[in-house]
Amino acid sequence: MNELILMKYGEIALKGLNKSSFEDILLKNIRWRMRDMGRLRLRKAQSTIYLEPENPESFDFDEAMDRLTKIFGIASISRALVVEKSLDAIQKEICGYLEDQLSSARTFKVETRRSDKQFPLKSPEISAEVGGTILSRFHNLQVDVHDPELVVNVEIRDFGAYIHAGSIPGAGGMPVSSSGKAMILISGGLDSPVAAYMMAKRGLSLEAIHFVSPPYTSDRALQKVETLCEKLVPYTGSIKFHCVPFTEIQEAIKEHCPEELFTVIMRRLMMKVAEEVCKKQDIKALVTGESLAQVASQTLDALYCTDNATDLVVLRPLIGMDKSEIIKIAYQIDTYETSILPYEDCCTVFTPRHPRTRPKLHFVEKAEAGFDFRPLLAKAVEDTTCKTITL
Ligand code: ATP
Ligand code: MG
Repeated sequence: MNELILMKYGEIALKGLNKSSFEDILLKNIRWRMRDMGRLRLRKAQSTIYLEPENPESFDFDEAMDRLTKIFGIASISRALVVEKSLDAIQKEICGYLEDQLSSARTFKVETRRSDKQFPLKSPEISAEVGGTILSRFHNLQVDVHDPELVVNVEIRDFGAYIHAGSIPGAGGMPVSSSGKAMILISGGLDSPVAAYMMAKRGLSLEAIHFVSPPYTSDRALQKVETLCEKLVPYTGSIKFHCVPFTEIQEAIKEHCPEELFTVIMRRLMMKVAEEVCKKQDIKALVTGESLAQVASQTLDALYCTDNATDLVVLRPLIGMDKSEIIKIAYQIDTYETSILPYEDCCTVFTPRHPRTRPKLHFVEKAEAGFDFRPLLAKAVEDTTCKTITL
C-alpha cells in the first residue's frame, strides 16, 4: 500500500513573487522535524506539500502527523493513499483503504478535486462513479451531500490520484524564521511561553533570555523555565537560551531607588541587558508576555517607561488578551501545568508593597540616575551563560 501525507498551506499560498522562498523555509522546517523518522521525500506542487516515506509500511504515520500539527505554515494535513490516475484504480482501491470509516458511518459523500485538467472525467462525474461503487459495497451507507458523517476525498493531481477521509487542521501561521529572529524575555509564568508561541506562529525564530537572582531564586525555578522552553521547541525549533545573573542589579535597585519604582526600574534594566545580548546576536526585537492592565507594571504609563529603555522593537502579542484566553492557549500548547508550579521568579522576590501604577518617565530616569548601574549591567551581560535547547 502506497501511503503518503499531503499538506496544504494557508497564508503562504497568498504570497506573490517571493512565495517560493516561504515554501523553501517551510520544507526545511519539516525536514528538520522529520530528521529521525527514516528516509523520505518532500516535494511541493500547487500549494501542496507531499511527504512520501521511502518505506510506508514501517513509517510511523501517527507520530509524523502529530509532529506536523505543530509546524507553522501548514493549514491542513491528510494521510492519503496514492493510486494510479484512472477511475478503475480509484474504484478498485477505495473501499479497502477506507473500510473502517465506511463501515462505521451512516451517511457520506464523495468530494473530488481535479487539478489535473487532462483527466477525462469532470469532478462531479468522478464523485458519482466512486459514490456508486461505495454504495454497492456498504449497505449501511446513504448519500447525504449536505451534512454527511464522512467525506471521502478524491484528488486528481500532477503526480497521481489520492484518496483520503478528510484532513486535520495544521498549526496555521507562517513558517518559523521566515520573519526573522527575536528574543523572548521568558519567565516561569503563564504568559511569556504563550507570547513565544504566538510570535513563532507569525514566523519569528526565537532566542530566549531569562533573569535569575540566586539565592532568592532556586535551581528548580530555572529548571522550570528550561522545561517550558523544551515544550516550545516542537513549535519554535531549537532555542538558544541565555541566562542572566541579576541578583546584584536587583540588590542595587533595592538599595538606591524608591521602593514604589522598583518594578518599573527592574523591567527597564532587564530590557537594557536583553538589548546588549541581542546586539551580539544581531537581533532587532524583544518579545514579552505583558498584557495591558494585567498587573501594576503593565499599565500604559509603565509600558511607556519600559519601552523607553530600549531602541529595539518590543513585541507584546498578548497585549489585548484576557487571562482566560491566554490560559486556553497555555493548555493547548501544554505549558499550563509547568507554568503553575509554585517556584519563585526574580520579579516576585522584591515586589514593592505599593508599586506606582502610573510611573512618570522623568521621575523614573531621575531615580535611576542616583546610582551608576552601568558597571553592573556590563557585568551581567558578561556573565550571561548560553545553551541550546533542542529536541
Ligand atoms: P509571566 O506569566 O510571563 O511571568 P506576568 O504576568 O507574571 O508574566 P510579570 O512578572 O510582570 O508578568 O512579567 C512581565 C514580563 O516580563 C513577562 O511576561 C516576561 O516577558 C518578562 N519577565 C518577567 N520575569 C522575567 C524573568 N525572570 N526573566 C525574563 N523575563 C521576565
Ligand atoms: Mg511572571
